[in-house]
Amino acid sequence: MSDQDRTPRDWDLFVIGAGSGGVRAARTAAAAGARVAVAEDRYLGGTCVNVGCVPKKLYSYAAHFHDAFEDAEGFGWQLPEPPRFDWPTLRDNKVGEIKRLNDIYARLLDGADVRLINGRARVLDPHHVEVAGEVHSVEKILVAVGGWPWIPDFPGSELAVTSNEVFDLERFPERFLVLGGGYIAVEFASIFNGLGSDTHLVYRGELFLRGFDREVREFARDQMREKGVDLRFDTNIECIERVAGGLAVTLTSGETLEVDAVLAATGRRPHLAGLGLDELDVQLTDGGHPKVDERFATSVPSILAIGDVTGGPELTPVALAEAMHLVRCHFGETPPKAPLAYDKIATTVFCHPNIGTVGLTEEQARERYGDIRVYTADFRPLKHTLSGSRERCLMKLIVDDASDVVVGAHMVGEEAGEVIQGIAVAVKAGLTKADFDATVGIHPTGAEEFVTMRTPTRR
Ligand code: NDP
Repeated sequence: MSDQDRTPRDWDLFVIGAGSGGVRAARTAAAAGARVAVAEDRYLGGTCVNVGCVPKKLYSYAAHFHDAFEDAEGFGWQLPEPPRFDWPTLRDNKVGEIKRLNDIYARLLDGADVRLINGRARVLDPHHVEVAGEVHSVEKILVAVGGWPWIPDFPGSELAVTSNEVFDLERFPERFLVLGGGYIAVEFASIFNGLGSDTHLVYRGELFLRGFDREVREFARDQMREKGVDLRFDTNIECIERVAGGLAVTLTSGETLEVDAVLAATGRRPHLAGLGLDELDVQLTDGGHPKVDERFATSVPSILAIGDVTGGPELTPVALAEAMHLVRCHFGETPPKAPLAYDKIATTVFCHPNIGTVGLTEEQARERYGDIRVYTADFRPLKHTLSGSRERCLMKLIVDDASDVVVGAHMVGEEAGEVIQGIAVAVKAGLTKADFDATVGIHPTGAEEFVTMRTPTRR
């Protein structure tokens, strides 16, 4: 008699972590007939809803008003007095909106008949989880605990905040410094610069956004500098000290900058502390992420993992796709025929202006295909002929010369995320440059450049 026959399990699926991936897996599995519980010790909706995508986008909107006020004058608008930004209004309105979303998540779980348990879960063995003093016997455990910001160790590093705290600063930082060159660093540099802070970004490498298309990175660098962000590359923080007026940040270049807040955006690590996986046979990658197979099972078959904790692309839509794939694999009537595809995932960096991208960079395409055609458009958007803004827009298509397939599309410009989301369908579908050319543009838009670029910029 198997262990399962002896003791009927309390749950078919026990999800640890009510973030994007965990909640989607719980609801979808419950809809497929599974008995599901979710344990969460912090907030419903995880990083994305509480300290990530959602509040970040709201703050990014707030920061964009800065340009909008300046642009308005050329169109005939005059403001009675210079606009003033009030940080507590933004912060507190954000708190209200997140609370509304938390409640929606609770209702979604409740409506799906998923039991929500408040507390940090501990995995006792492959079929038992303890949370809030109760032990649950479970068929499968899903680890969807996400990541947690990581700060390198240097003198005064405890004076820096992370993306967990930066949204709720008590006082608006008139002088702001961000350390790092990834998504979070670049986005927050733009946000605080737009909100009116005197903003510095310090990055250890020669150019931020490693892994993105080189031309896109250079264009974004120039645009951010144009908007007033002080970008310092090949530099790191030596130490931070508290001084009378704020924080004194000494850089490896020898310079010292005095600021009101330092954001360390130096990456995120899997949030496995206290979960008990280290006492089981769950194998980890070099980065400390649970290793998973195509069905998202770890080396302990009843323990599954999805989302940021697994070290794949740390993006909400990826966690959602993984959740649905996992449910089809483990609880569905027809398991998926192929593993989840991770290529051609579109993404946006919400810096100002935005970067939107899908598919290969020029560098990757050249390495993979050898012969490529690159089409670029670098122009001043129509809006800025009257606004007086010096903001420019870059659009770029990368085409495999042999097949004519568009293998990469990139944009730096207003609403690049919105534009690239549409282009991503074409790139994902493997359409050719001829298909792009056969598409009639929408005039006058910036996006029409994607279907009107005819002459390769280089081969
Ligand atoms: P990233 O991993 O993207 O970037 C971390 C940055 O910190 C890198 O520039 C890295 O430098 C630098 N760094 C690492 N260690 C050190 C150190 N010891 N000293 C100085 N600098 C260091 O992490 P983020 O925190 O920006 O974001 C985490 C993830 O969240 C992203 O990868 C992304 O997937 C996701 N995210 C997505 C967003 C979106 O979709 N718009 C928005 C925000 C986050 P180096 O490049 O040299 O390694």
